[in-house]
This record gives sequence, structure tokens and C-alpha cells, in this order.
Amino acid sequence: MGTARGVKTRNNKQWTEARYRGFIRSALRGAWQRWGPNHEVKKTARVERGKYRCAGYNRRSHVVTASITVEGKRKNNIFTDHIVPVGGDGDWNEIIENLFCEVDNLQLLCKSCHDVKTKDERHDSRR
Ligand SMILES: [Zn+2]
Repeated sequence: MGTARGVKTRNNKQWTEARYRGFIRSALRGAWQRWGPNHEVKKTARVERGKYRCAGYNRRSHVVTASITVEGKRKNNIFTDHIVPVGGDGDWNEIIENLFCEVDNLQLLCKSCHDVKTKDERHDSRR
């Protein structure tokens, strides 16, 4: 914040602000994997082995498999989604507060629903 783009002031002056923010974000994502409500949402949405109920974004809730094959590669198909988005460019306190929320702000979405929602959120934040 307040630092010109592309100027390396972080980590022994080897990193730009953007690189630094990416680093912190990835550290937070690691912690998120150990966050109880994240696991709670998946547990609640589980229908049977390998099958989960997607809350549905702009469509009805539906049951999906935990992984899908895209172009011959197995990919994760279930995402814990923050109903109120975390945001990424703002104040760290706010990001942390939004990220480590309780289960009432979380829902399970399949890849297809999650992709559409993410796209909408990006579009919203540009306005
Ligand atoms: Zn879905």
C-alpha cells in the first residue's frame, strides 16, 4: 500500500508488493486447510462416498461427484465457497476476518457453479 507498482521493497528488496501479497495469501490458504468450518461444510454436504450436494449458484442445488475428469486429468470438483467473498486487494485484517469465517458464511459448490460465481465476483469488483 502506497508503494509504486513493480518496486521491490519486500523480502530483502527482492519482491514487489504483488509478489509479497501472493506469498501471504498462499500462507493463509495453508492455514485455511486446517480451519474447522471448512471441513464442517464438506462433512455436511456429503451425500455418500465421493458424492456431495452442491448448494447451486444461480441454479438449484444438485448432487455432484467429488472429482471430475477434465481433458484426461482428474480434478477436484468440490469447493468451499465464501458466500460473502473474501476479497483480495484490501486490508489484511479484513481479508483474514472474511477468510476465517464461521460455517454460516460457507457453502459447498461444484466446480461449474464455483467458476460462474468467481467470474461474477471479478466482474462486480471491477465496477
Ligand atoms: Zn453446482
